[in-house]
Amino acid sequence: MINMVGKKDFTITSIDNFSKEQLFEMAFYEPVTHYYNWNWLRERLENFEKFGLSDFIFAHFDIKDFKMINEIYGHTVGDKVLIRMCDALSKCDWIYFSSRCDNDNFALMVKRMSDEEVRAKLQALFDSLSVLDEDSKYPIFYRCGVASVDNVGDYRATVTDLAKMAQRLGTKVNVTEIHFYTDEMKEKQMHSKLLKKDLTNALENDELIVYYQPKYEPVHNTLVGAEALIRWNYHHERMLPPGEFVPYFEQEGAIEKIDRFVLEQVCMKLEHWKQQGIKLVPISVNMSRAQLYSPLVIDNILAIVDRYDVERQYIEFELTESLAYGDVDYMIQVMKELRELGFLLSIDDFGTGYSSLSLLSNMPLTTLKIDKSFIDEIEMDEDGKVDYIVKNILGITKHLSIYSVAEGVETEDQKNLLKKWGCNYIQGYFYSRPIPVEEFEKFLEVAE
Ligand code: C2E
Ligand code: CA
Ligand code: CA
Repeated sequence: MINMVGKKDFTITSIDNFSKEQLFEMAFYEPVTHYYNWNWLRERLENFEKFGLSDFIFAHFDIKDFKMINEIYGHTVGDKVLIRMCDALSKCDWIYFSSRCDNDNFALMVKRMSDEEVRAKLQALFDSLSVLDEDSKYPIFYRCGVASVDNVGDYRATVTDLAKMAQRLGTKVNVTEIHFYTDEMKEKQMHSKLLKKDLTNALENDELIVYYQPKYEPVHNTLVGAEALIRWNYHHERMLPPGEFVPYFEQEGAIEKIDRFVLEQVCMKLEHWKQQGIKLVPISVNMSRAQLYSPLVIDNILAIVDRYDVERQYIEFELTESLAYGDVDYMIQVMKELRELGFLLSIDDFGTGYSSLSLLSNMPLTTLKIDKSFIDEIEMDEDGKVDYIVKNILGITKHLSIYSVAEGVETEDQKNLLKKWGCNYIQGYFYSRPIPVEEFEKFLEVAE
């Protein structure tokens, strides 16, 4: 029979060779690792009392970028990584039951202990398998969510939702993360559900508003463009900044609606200004992950833009560096198509990702936006490291013949340094905060 944390090895010869009991058992194993599968564990989650337990902590984890291991070293090595994990899990005396759910997902029912203890045990488990056996230079990182709730009997198998909610907080690269579920998270999720319900109404009730943040050329202090940034005038009561709703909609995919709305508003304004004889400047809009990876991304964009009589060179798409984590080749392909269609393209938050430099040479960029985190440090940069980095980024943009924009410039000193180093454009509170369109229009000039 199966022991609590042991493994079972099956060599399949003919189905007739199996007893009913063995066939039944096979339903509870998964073929790659010959370890317990999700069905096996779910049975124990649902009926933990029947299996002699009165309480447990639930944890769920996966391997960050597991796809990469398969892609670089092949599936056999990928499988071995999973098998080694199952082996390690089967030897943990602090685990009641564990299973490989699917792909690189694992679930554990852990003995009751303090949060610090369970964190230490999990960390030790992950540390013991933190490099690839086949290539000790290749690090393996994990993303783990833990649900340590008082009344686990109320949840049973749905405790997995809580752990997964915590697990989703693990978004950093190159580090193993263990997050615990908290009631606050649940409130946030409720909040996100409410917001999602409200979004349809918000679009109909004119609650979504586009603000514009001007970009300036610092030598002559001339306006050279603006970034469109969304605001939500929630129930016409208070103005929500994007930080309070964009992340929720990013997870839910509803962000695409917002992005389309912003693009449409921008096109409308550009056409309006053109008709009024106003000198146009390019307006940039942010592109979300959902929009980029939508199969109809180009069609959707053209369907909006082509409704207005606006030249494409006045519309710029800002793509943040981290969008490349999904599928760089695909992203570059979309960028190429957009560029060929005549749109401007910028890479946003440059310097915050880990693949920055290699990306630059392959992307058909018109502009690079240096992330605010660098700008924050240039004034008080005692050892000169950040200054050196920023100067070099500016050198690279010059070499690649693309425009540079410094983001989040708040002081005159920052502006002067950037101007001295040859940064093309400045965006930040020093010149202006994001402002409503009526205010922004005051900055625009009539064309000569
Ligand atoms: P982002 O694209 O990096 O936008 C720049 C953010 O920096 C804006 O915050 C802007 O108000 C802020 N900022 C600009 N200058 C300064 C400064 O000098 N000091 C400080 N402290 N902040 C400055 P905002 O408007 O809150 O937007 C936050 C993020 O939300 C944006 O970051 C972008 O990622 C996202 N977002 C905004 N609008 C949209 C949208 O229409 N679609 C999508 N997908 N994302 C959007
Ligand atoms: Ca941006
Ligand atoms: Ca940015």
